Amino acid sequence: MPTSDESAINQQEPAGSMRAIVCHGPRDYRYETIPVPHPGPGELLIRVEAVGICASDLKCYDGAAKFWGDDSRPAWAETDVVPGHEITGVVTRLDEAAAQKWGVGAGDRVVIEQIRPCWDCRYCDNGDYHMCQVHDIYGFKRATPGGMAEYMVVTQGSLVHRIDKNIPAAHAAFAEPLSCGLHAVERGQLRFSDVVVVAGCGPIGLGVIAGAAAKSPAQIVALDFDQRKLDLAARTGATVTVNLAKEDPYAAVAALTDGYGADVYFEATGHPSAVPQGLRLLRKLGRFVEYSVFKDDVSVDWSIISDDKELDVVGAHLGPDCWPAAIRLIEQGRLPMDDICTHQLPLEQFQRGLNLVASGGESIKVSLLP
Ligand SMILES: [Zn+2]
Ligand SMILES: [Zn+2]
Repeated sequence: MPTSDESAINQQEPAGSMRAIVCHGPRDYRYETIPVPHPGPGELLIRVEAVGICASDLKCYDGAAKFWGDDSRPAWAETDVVPGHEITGVVTRLDEAAAQKWGVGAGDRVVIEQIRPCWDCRYCDNGDYHMCQVHDIYGFKRATPGGMAEYMVVTQGSLVHRIDKNIPAAHAAFAEPLSCGLHAVERGQLRFSDVVVVAGCGPIGLGVIAGAAAKSPAQIVALDFDQRKLDLAARTGATVTVNLAKEDPYAAVAALTDGYGADVYFEATGHPSAVPQGLRLLRKLGRFVEYSVFKDDVSVDWSIISDDKELDVVGAHLGPDCWPAAIRLIEQGRLPMDDICTHQLPLEQFQRGLNLVASGGESIKVSLLP
């Protein structure tokens, strides 16, 4: 063992190499053997227990311009990076500095916030670390290789939280998408009297519903085309579910609001049609919260936002300051996690996992267990 490790609080020494998924570019992700990464001073080595596959992982895999650039923007994602940002694992090696910094010890199970802030830009200085100008997110940048591997290093500046070891690993990794849903709820500034509409009951939409339910507004109306997802939404806290394949959302919301319309609308589908739908479902002076990442541009009549309804339209990104609440909701069993975490696959079935996320019909949250 190198002398620099003498102060390390070791649990067990991993072998020299490990299995990992490595991104070599769009549609070129390979299952490989690579060296186990070595934690530097003040860093953690974790043995990854579960890593969720996100819709953003799929979009990156597919070569979306948001990740790989186009005429109007440079590439943000990098090649030769282990993907995966919805990570939970067990602390396997750390030094005293890392133990002090994060309050963790060898053997603890942790979740790691997806962004590793620079702590030196205008946004980080103002506490808006989720909008960090540098924007190193685990699993997309060489500075921050992700969790689709047996081991990964948690680098300095990361945000680390302990989570209960007795829940299934895939449930623990759901803290990432749930924190995102909770941040959307905070952007929605819910009031007890609100009638809230949530479009889309995938992982983010369910997180929004769980967070909204914790705030107890008057009604939470869930919209989706998939009855199975709507049933999950009801078990997560939706008070009304509307199956868009056979029911009229406008009539449903009008009936709940004396014809005025919803107070707050959360868009969590990523489908362009959900945007004009929200503008129409909202009452005057209502609030539109956008969480999705879209593959295609969306066109709407912006005079609805101004002249017709004077709406507040806000975006939401990541889950800043919402991780403790997300962990609490999962640990308290406030979500039907067994049914949300539909698929747990070994690392080598990464491609099948992506396909499940792409088709969407069978799965809610697909996780890899390295
Ligand atoms: Zn994610
Ligand atoms: Zn920063």
